[in-house]
Amino acid sequence: MSISTPASFATRNWASNVVYGAASVVVPGSVAELADVVRSADRVKALGSRHCFNTVADTAGVHVLSSGLPAEVSIDSERRIVRASAGLRYGDVAPKLHRQGWALANLASLPHISLAGAVATGSHGSGDAVASLASAVAGVELMTADGELRTYRRGDPHFDGVVVSLGALGIVTAIELDIIPAFEVTQTVYERLPLDAVLQDLDAVTGLGYSVSMFHTWRDPEVVDQLWVKRRTDAPGALPERVVGAVKASTKRHPLPDVSAESCTDQLGEPGEWYARLPHFKLEFTPSNGEELQSEFLVPRRNAVTAIATIRDLAQQVAPLLQVCELRTVARDDLWLSSAYGTDVLGIHFTWKPDQPGVERLLPLIERALEPLAARPHWGKLFTLDGAAERMPRLYPQWNDFVALRERLDPRGVFRNDFLARLGL
Ligand SMILES: Cc1cc2nc3c(=O)[nH]c(=O)nc-3n(C[C@H](O)[C@H](O)[C@H](O)COP(=O)(O)OP(=O)(O)OC[C@H]3O[C@@H](n4cnc5c(N)ncnc54)[C@H](O)[C@@H]3O)c2cc1C
Repeated sequence: MSISTPASFATRNWASNVVYGAASVVVPGSVAELADVVRSADRVKALGSRHCFNTVADTAGVHVLSSGLPAEVSIDSERRIVRASAGLRYGDVAPKLHRQGWALANLASLPHISLAGAVATGSHGSGDAVASLASAVAGVELMTADGELRTYRRGDPHFDGVVVSLGALGIVTAIELDIIPAFEVTQTVYERLPLDAVLQDLDAVTGLGYSVSMFHTWRDPEVVDQLWVKRRTDAPGALPERVVGAVKASTKRHPLPDVSAESCTDQLGEPGEWYARLPHFKLEFTPSNGEELQSEFLVPRRNAVTAIATIRDLAQQVAPLLQVCELRTVARDDLWLSSAYGTDVLGIHFTWKPDQPGVERLLPLIERALEPLAARPHWGKLFTLDGAAERMPRLYPQWNDFVALRERLDPRGVFRNDFLARLGL
């Protein structure tokens, strides 16, 4: 058996703010090789495309890249399911689906992330009626600590616990995702949306399209800099020329001020394939800025307006460290550790300047302000780990069920790391 160890492998995450502590990195080429690694190691952690901003993916033991497993994408049109290898990126899978007339209901802002890594942290796109990427998971093949491959399908006991796993339950080798008929989308950007109009009728704004994002630098708190509306071409009606005072941008825009829009998916109302419009960024470019940190907090929809007003009150403290804040909605699901568990949510995302000490000083202020609004942190972005073990059971009704599931599937603690320990997992 030969398990390859890459000659050179980036030992940092995408944002370079985390240096991984892994003693070795392996790329198993088969499920059998993966089983050998898992059975023989004290500590193992799967690594996807390294796009998390915290240490959720770190380990002191062996880092396993699932990208070495045979790349499979097979479509079952009858069941409306695609089965794909866990290490593939959404951007690899999407065009293959489209060529055969199929689509995924949602994508994140970037197609560069791996299926398993995105699902493990509850990653999401935007849309009042569109739930997280994890909600599309219909089945998971999971290698547990004993080296056995277990399959969990929607409806099976513990399925809802297994999908958003933070990598704590084992290594996912393949994922089944729901597919829907392919569709086309237009993307239109409006500029300078009065915040008051958003607070008065948030539903009217987020209901403008299939997927809607607002970008706010909080430099002028009363004006949301950009409103991005992604609309299915088969939706009835048409977009207005103005949205409560905001006007359509006449050229392509990047969400970040003063950054070229070359990396962004096409706008100006030009129809395109679902996978070429739902993400903000194109696969062949660096997404976002590349020099940044990120945090995100998701609040139940009923608290959304109060939460936006709360951030407005903090604008003076937030703006100096901020590149841009994105507001978007995610529909509810039933996945135990999903930030949209049991409720529709509004995501309040922050793209920070790359000043980690500054961000770490500011986060407790934001977290304290949003705590009464039941804000859940994005698992893959920066948040305060102090006190997290006490906070999480209050935020996630099935937290203790997940703790029990983790103990049952990984009694040796093979997949644990410091991040999970600080969450009490
Ligand atoms: C520029 C940028 C834009 C982003 N935009 C969005 C966005 O629009 N929406 C959003 O929700 N998030 C967004 N994110 C965050 C991103 O979606 C998450 O961090 C996601 O988890 C990254 O996936 P990954 O493959 O890089 O995971 P990694 O960082 O490699 O790993 C994440 C977790 O998944 C686990 N994991 C990975 N592979 C496996 C496997 N095979 N089996 C079991 N566990 C596994 C790891 O152990 C770890 O716990 C963005 C990040 C960046 C850098």
